[in-house]
Amino acid sequence: MDLPTLARGLGARSGLGPAPISVGFELTHRCNLSCSYCDRHSPSPGEMSRDQILRALSELHSLGMRHVSLDGGEPLTHRHVDEIAAFLVQRQVRMYMNTNGILVPRKLATVRLLSKVKISLDGPAACHDAVRGEGAWRRAVVGALAARDAGVPVELTCVVGRHNVDHVDELLAFADHARFPVVFQPARASLFAGVERPGAAFQLEAAEVRRVFRRLEAAKLRGCAAVGNRWSSLRHFRDYPRDVELPCAAGQINATLDPEGNLLHCGQIARPGRAPNVVALGARAAFDALARSACTQCWCARVVEENYAWGGRVHRMLPPLGVAEPPAPRPRRLKVVA
Ligand code: SF4
Ligand code: SF4
Repeated sequence: MDLPTLARGLGARSGLGPAPISVGFELTHRCNLSCSYCDRHSPSPGEMSRDQILRALSELHSLGMRHVSLDGGEPLTHRHVDEIAAFLVQRQVRMYMNTNGILVPRKLATVRLLSKVKISLDGPAACHDAVRGEGAWRRAVVGALAARDAGVPVELTCVVGRHNVDHVDELLAFADHARFPVVFQPARASLFAGVERPGAAFQLEAAEVRRVFRRLEAAKLRGCAAVGNRWSSLRHFRDYPRDVELPCAAGQINATLDPEGNLLHCGQIARPGRAPNVVALGARAAFDALARSACTQCWCARVVEENYAWGGRVHRMLPPLGVAEPPAPRPRRLKVVA
């Protein structure tokens, strides 16, 4: 969270009222992979048209939107992604992207517009490919290297579940060698009611989540720069899912826009059957109509970290007394031969 956003966020808490400063935009639920634990392989039936998207983004921008995290499905499969990214950059909106990395080398002109690209990696090649398909690991790493060579900061994202909990150390060793930070978070079941719940079989027991995150925190305490989680999310996951109530920016400065134009105060909790829709209502009325409620089970590491920053819980964010923040990994040139 940058300083202007933090300032506006504090404004939202002290009288200026909520504003959608930071928007997660799921462009499409289409994807070029169909990972075993994921429920977003194919487009939703009523995805917004190009014109509807640009109108919604323009309205959200006039309400204060300054950050957009492009998400999916796979956002780079959207046929208007280049135009949408250019539209946002023209309006000085900072963009981030969650991607499986595969299309990054073909979409470098758009990727260069991003402030950061976050690429999913489940572990070493065999572990990643077992859930994502043959060759997916190699293509993800090639994408990560291409983005970094193009000057775009890269973070890896690892969703820790039954399939990879025993491979976390191998992933850290690879990330340390390749000099990429990895942000870890626990796998969870589908957010969509009434659909098959492919994620549930991958979820770890709570005790195992706590165990693995305590190991990650210990690695960061030893100075391992490959652990990309900030202290606040590591502390949160120590007691997951029963952390103390954390400040929740959902609907205050954050919102999620789904491919059909439904606006949600939080994209990380079970989807309601109905939500205010920006196409039907316009962005202002949709944002005003959000039901705002917090929970204590925040599982998305970056959202946890933003929440603690927004809430000003500095004591949760600082390193332990006497411990220095590990330096950011310095890029290293690497050839992928797997
Ligand atoms: S790449 Fe991401 S969105 Fe696509 S199927 Fe896999 S987990 Fe789902
Ligand atoms: S998961 Fe819960 S606590 Fe976290 S941002 Fe969403 S509503 Fe707030």
